[in-house]
Amino acid sequence: MAFEALTQKLNDIFKKLKGKGKLTEADVKQAMREVKLALLEADVNFKVVKDLIQKISERAVGQEVMESLTPGQQVIKIVNDELVQLMGSKEAKLNFSSGGITVIMLVGLQGSGKTTTAGKLGRLLSKSGKKPLLTAADIYRPAAIKQLQVVGEKLDLPVFTMGQQDPVNIARASVEYAHKHNNDVIIIDTAGRLHIDEELMDELSRIKQAVNPSEILLVVDSMTGQDAVNVAEEFNKRLALTGLILTKLDGDTRGGAALSVKAVTGCPIKFVGMGEKLENLEPFYPERMASRILGMGDVLTLIEKATQSFDLKKAQELEQKLKTQSFDLNDFLEQLSQVKKIGSLDQILSMIPGFSPQKLQGLELDEKELVHVEAIINSMTPEERKNPSIINGSRRKRIAAGSGTSIQDVNRLLKQYEQTRKMIKQMTDMEKGRKKGKHRF
Ligand code: GDP
Repeated sequence: MAFEALTQKLNDIFKKLKGKGKLTEADVKQAMREVKLALLEADVNFKVVKDLIQKISERAVGQEVMESLTPGQQVIKIVNDELVQLMGSKEAKLNFSSGGITVIMLVGLQGSGKTTTAGKLGRLLSKSGKKPLLTAADIYRPAAIKQLQVVGEKLDLPVFTMGQQDPVNIARASVEYAHKHNNDVIIIDTAGRLHIDEELMDELSRIKQAVNPSEILLVVDSMTGQDAVNVAEEFNKRLALTGLILTKLDGDTRGGAALSVKAVTGCPIKFVGMGEKLENLEPFYPERMASRILGMGDVLTLIEKATQSFDLKKAQELEQKLKTQSFDLNDFLEQLSQVKKIGSLDQILSMIPGFSPQKLQGLELDEKELVHVEAIINSMTPEERKNPSIINGSRRKRIAAGSGTSIQDVNRLLKQYEQTRKMIKQMTDMEKGRKKGKHRF
């Protein structure tokens, strides 16, 4: 899971701080030394770490902490603020051409995830009402064109190809094609190399000149850590990037690239890839990312995902049920099938504050289990579904027999229901707190 190692370390450091009623300067210094080490181990750029620690330390030994009733929490707040600042403060949105067609050029090394990301970005844009065209301009990598076509087919998006011709011509022709076919955004999947070389940079510069893109986005693999940052610096020097897309953040337990790349290159991260599936691309919000890194969850992204996947009416009904504490097993069943649409359970739970991966045990659920769950719930009486607390030993036995499962299965389901109820309650409490403007610290 993203940032797992860093989050764990920071949490340990903060736990010690929070345990102290009053903080001395020496306590803060010691904690800062540990934070510094944790960041370096996460492969954050050395200079970035140095600057960051200096900023945090200055504030942490100041009045706002020392005179606070909860100094430990104040320090965490400062770390949070500075991490947000480091990653760019605000969401960096895509630039669209004011009239005419918006051209987005995706550049990057081979294997960074360009072709996949072209599809993912096309999907997001199409969901927001745009009419994207995917252009296959990677003429060197065997099967790159075919790969983009497959992606386009899956997403029902048009793909422009011209075989192995000069990529500059392909890019230009795709703009004409888009004009004729009413596409308002073009995403150009350019060629990559294993390493940066002159020929590649030259080709990309020529494409840039030919189609005047609104966005030149570098796709980089976050798992390569500081290499990703170096690659970004090089590409930025040659092409003046407008932003970055960090891929494979789902597998990046360290997070060094995500934390350093903006500070080093000045280019904002615009999106992050969170998995191989075409729906696994998220806009990058520094604030939410800092929250995730500090193990405070990312309730906003979760709620956003939930509202995208959920039927609004059902979501409102659910909210009502939660308010009145009448979330029953019928709703639970409904919920399980909805939740599966948002993402894998461990991804979802990592966004919830206070849920460490260890707590996931007992909550894993695969498709087969979902069928069992359905059978179990269907074997209950309407009254049992409405009020699961009445399900005693003999009822459990009857339900197991009726659904062709075991008593353990029934017990597990009831436990999962209870945990989900708590989890949703926690989410709504957080959201309510946020709306009231309460700070999370
Ligand atoms: P390209 O050579 O830059 O076009 O790279 P591809 O799009 O072919 O991607 C290379 C590999 O990375 C493929 O196996 C993708 O499925 C995988 N990939 C791309 N983005 C992500 C991501 O965000 N997370 C994970 N886990 N895998 C990704």
